[in-house]
Amino acid sequence: MLYAPLAEIDPEVKNIIDKETWRQFTGLELIASENLTSQATMEANGSILTNKYSEGLPGARYYGGNEYIDELEVLCRKRALTAFNLDPAVWGVNVQPYSGSTANFAALTALIQPQDRLMGLGLPDGGHLTHGYYTAKKKMTASSIYFQSYPYAITPDTNLVDYAALAAQAKVFKPRLVICGASAYPRDWDYGKLREICDKEGAFLMADIAHTSGLIAAQELDNPFEYCDVVTTTTHKTLRGPRAGLIFFRRDRPNAPDLEKRVNDAVFPACQGGPHNNTISAIATSLLQVSRPEWKAYAKQVIANARALGESLVANGYKLQTGGTDNHLVLMDLRPLGLTGSKVEKICDLMGITINKNAVSGDASAQVPGGIRLGTSALTSRDMKEEDIKVVADFLHRAVQLSLLVQKEAGSKLLKDFVRVATTPQEGKQGYAQVKQLRDEV
Ligand code: PLP
Repeated sequence: MLYAPLAEIDPEVKNIIDKETWRQFTGLELIASENLTSQATMEANGSILTNKYSEGLPGARYYGGNEYIDELEVLCRKRALTAFNLDPAVWGVNVQPYSGSTANFAALTALIQPQDRLMGLGLPDGGHLTHGYYTAKKKMTASSIYFQSYPYAITPDTNLVDYAALAAQAKVFKPRLVICGASAYPRDWDYGKLREICDKEGAFLMADIAHTSGLIAAQELDNPFEYCDVVTTTTHKTLRGPRAGLIFFRRDRPNAPDLEKRVNDAVFPACQGGPHNNTISAIATSLLQVSRPEWKAYAKQVIANARALGESLVANGYKLQTGGTDNHLVLMDLRPLGLTGSKVEKICDLMGITINKNAVSGDASAQVPGGIRLGTSALTSRDMKEEDIKVVADFLHRAVQLSLLVQKEAGSKLLKDFVRVATTPQEGKQGYAQVKQLRDEV
């Protein structure tokens, strides 16, 4: 039982994995928060390290048998600091968070007290749930249930973060923590300005760079580490690692010299139990790849591809939030066409193009968003360049035109069937057979 392969023990799950492999390798993955991680990273992630319990930190565990796990976690920390070019005398890192959300909640637990005040970019303006999101009806995330939060916003005209309004609101609200970083913001951040605001109000500054960390590591975007007290990230978006989180903390803050202990205690035992050592090994492997010279070329290409995608869409007459992008994502505003994001998302699904509906500035309802979010990290991992992306932009153009047609012919079964038949990628199935054959040969 212990050594039999998955196909023998559980053909049902094996079959689902095979189908998903086919979907990932024959479709076009444009979800901005996803990527295609490397074979080496997946190998580490699926390793025997999943068997081991290791609550605590290297050299101070609550279980025996952690000699090699200690070696692994120390190596992973070292690689995390190297990947972001950080001096270990100034910065430390905890590599145990299970995901971006748990990393963020642990960081809040470390930095502020229950019911303290925090400010993050509002969800409809591109912020993340974990940055204090709540609605008029409900405090729906731990970051608004256990803390008092107030969202800052983007300006309605430029759709850029309104730093002047944030400064004025912070003066009144007096947050103990300001969070920057976002899930759907196509422009870079002014970390210097944020630091000024935080210093004036006596607040900590935390950057959640989940989306852009792979580009920041390549120094293709501004560096939040120069200004922030704490930086969190997921490891599976532009960073191209396994699904997990990291928390970086400064060691030299005069007002908080104990950030290392606060962050480590917040991760374990406050918010988590035993670390997932298989994941930590996969983080280490992916960070090694981030530290190599080829990574810079990858990050540059991700941005060049996002720009090419934006330019092609604009050339086809579409509206983008902020008009373009500085990073890996573009936000397409569908409202001038009278379309919703969910309609285009569905049509794209039928065509083997994976995207997600997304709120755009001024949306009346977050439940029926008027835009879609597109990212180029995964396609760039498949080695696509600007000329390939222009073809993808053309597919998206066709998807939007089809969506308009479907909307016009709403309810016409014939049309829906036509879309399904016309866009089921027969070549995709052949492609999958080739991928399978290649895999079997290897
Ligand atoms: N932070 C940001 C900015 C994100 O975009 C996300 C997820 O998309 C997260 C945190 C949460 O990450 P996870 O899904 O790993 O919990």
